[in-house]
Amino acid sequence: MIDIGVNLTNSRFAKDYDDVLKRAKLAGIQHLLITAPDLANTQQAIELCQNDSRFLSCTAGVHPHDADNVSQDYIALLSQLAQHSSVKAIGECGLDFNRNFSTPENQLAVFKAQLSLAAQLNKPLFLHQREAFDVWFECLTPYFDKIPAMVSHCFTGDKKQLMCCLDAGMYIGITGWLCDPRRGVELQELVKYIPLDRLLIETDAPYLTPKNIKPKPKSSRNEPCYLSYIVVKLAEKMRYSVDELIMQTTLNAQQVFNLKQLKGGEND
Ligand SMILES: [Zn+2]
Repeated sequence: MIDIGVNLTNSRFAKDYDDVLKRAKLAGIQHLLITAPDLANTQQAIELCQNDSRFLSCTAGVHPHDADNVSQDYIALLSQLAQHSSVKAIGECGLDFNRNFSTPENQLAVFKAQLSLAAQLNKPLFLHQREAFDVWFECLTPYFDKIPAMVSHCFTGDKKQLMCCLDAGMYIGITGWLCDPRRGVELQELVKYIPLDRLLIETDAPYLTPKNIKPKPKSSRNEPCYLSYIVVKLAEKMRYSVDELIMQTTLNAQQVFNLKQLKGGEND
């Protein structure tokens, strides 16, 4: 299994980082992609990747929540960071009009600058969107044929939005949101429309702990070692076997993020 979204530089992993990775490996995770929300965390993520490059890759980008805080020269700096061999995508970037932690104007400017950078560097996009679908999709449209792959990370939209994303050729990232008996109901109905070759799995840890873990973990913190609970729920709702889902999502992640070096049954 490949977890395509872990916020591993989050301070909630600082204390037992090594154990988190150990548990992830024991749980069958063969690679994970660290999600970077800003430049400092991108730098930190690259350093983590360098210590364990077979197991870790990362994104490089600015989350819409951080759009108000960028420096004058952030795109030049981001461009430099993004060219490191551990960086497999630009992101997490996008629009979040749900909480507007940064102004919509700044979110748009920072998002568009990263789209242009991804096209220039020929890197995939790791995309965030909340309550901004139409504007977000409009920003992306000119880039559909200019960017190698787009991942709608932590998809939580409706059927119409899902179809728009699929028609545009996007990959769909499914998190533990799916396992929530209340918030996840709509998504549980929708996942059957996602073609297997467009599906990716992610914990988004430390957020979104799957609600189907038994017994319920003592800590509210999510970890990559819980990825299989998302797969089990997907298998139930998509009517594929767990093995089929693991095989195909692993292949998809390798293709999207250019992780080809993992092929050939490499194990630790
Ligand atoms: Zn996100």
